[in-house]
Amino acid sequence: MLRDWRSELNRFLVLIAVTTVVGLIAGRLTLFLLVGILGYLAHTFYQLHRLYSWLDKLPETEQDEPPEAKGIWGSVFDGIYRLQRREREAVNHLKSILNKAQESSAALEMAVIMINRKGNLEWWNKAAETLLGFRSEQDQQQGVTNLLREPRFFEYFESGKYNEPLQIPSPLNKKIILEFQVTLFGEGERLMLVRDVTQMHKLELMRKDFVGNVSHELRTPITVINGYLETLLDNRDSVAPRWIKPLEQMLQQSQRMENIVRDLLTLSRLETKALPKQQDRVDISSLLREIRGEAEQVFAAKQHAILLECEGEYFLQGSMSELYSAISNLLFNAGKYTPDHGKIILKANLVTTGLDIEVADNGVGIEEQHLPRLTERFYRVDESRSTDTGGTGLGLAIVKHVLARHGAKLEILSEVGKGSRFICHFPKERLLEAVPPQDVRASA
Ligand code: ADP
Repeated sequence: MLRDWRSELNRFLVLIAVTTVVGLIAGRLTLFLLVGILGYLAHTFYQLHRLYSWLDKLPETEQDEPPEAKGIWGSVFDGIYRLQRREREAVNHLKSILNKAQESSAALEMAVIMINRKGNLEWWNKAAETLLGFRSEQDQQQGVTNLLREPRFFEYFESGKYNEPLQIPSPLNKKIILEFQVTLFGEGERLMLVRDVTQMHKLELMRKDFVGNVSHELRTPITVINGYLETLLDNRDSVAPRWIKPLEQMLQQSQRMENIVRDLLTLSRLETKALPKQQDRVDISSLLREIRGEAEQVFAAKQHAILLECEGEYFLQGSMSELYSAISNLLFNAGKYTPDHGKIILKANLVTTGLDIEVADNGVGIEEQHLPRLTERFYRVDESRSTDTGGTGLGLAIVKHVLARHGAKLEILSEVGKGSRFICHFPKERLLEAVPPQDVRASA
């Protein structure tokens, strides 16, 4: 480019020199100089005109080569041509990426919807039209909650908490169950993925029904077997001595089976039936007292010190029997997994977030790697210890379900050899009335 500049300058200087010499010879220097400069200007205007008309035509004829020119103009044309080619390649590359992204998202069975920070629709794929009935032209920039009017969706979308997906019937066909999962990106924008989970939902219902039915059907045979075994063992004298041990083992196992069936039925009820609208006003201090009394009887032989720390008066809204089952499961676990003469504390604490009910023991403890999986069905840290203690592996799954139904969360803290703490965090909304310890003492 620099070379071209120099040669263009040289050419101009040569032109001036030649016109000056010719002008001097002809005795008309000014005229010749003027003609020379005008000629140069005309040439420049001519090239500018070619450049302009080439650029003007470009969008229609992308392949058009630049006009031929020598010197600086040739470089300018080629330079612009190269830049344009590079830009065109970059645009084509981006277009092909965009096309591929659009084609692949169009081929998806899952609806993909982009929502701007105001909650309006920005872009969606073909599946969004089939699953949710969005229409390409009319619904652009519409508020997503205007188009999907189900109250549960509104609550989910506005809550801003998208850890768990939401399952609701499709707005187009109530028989189709859709799962919505929102992810935040950019500056307050949201990406919403929606898929048809009807089949999974049906299978899940079948599974729940199956477990419920099987457990229900097994209950009677097991009760009968248990009954006969108990009767036989009650009349040991009439049973041959060599049968006593096998009979005892049979009774132990059939009682275990009875416990498993009972827990499975409880779980199945918790999964299939919603919490009744009419709920109890559960007096927590008397509930804890009752559970502690029962645990003291059950674990009398282990001589634990079971302490109750609940001086305030707290009333939770919920199901009395479910809360009883959850907290007693935690306290009985503490009793089971704490060696004799252990110290177990059952307490309720008013906290800023609501009410915490805690069961703490100084028992065997649990290794950290097991903690996230403890509430899974049949998950046991130590199979033999759990079966020795009559465990079913379903207790904590029941606790988790009951707490979830009450809007509460379970926190587990534990250290091997030192003990465990199981804390149920109940939200403020569940607390009907709370009289803190100092007020209870003052009124006493
Ligand atoms: P299980 O009927 O086997 O006790 P759970 O669901 O109640 O089943 O508990 C799952 C597992 O968690 C138990 O097998 C046990 O290993 C462990 N666990 C529960 N509570 C305690 C506790 N207080 N201390 C130590 N381990 C516990």
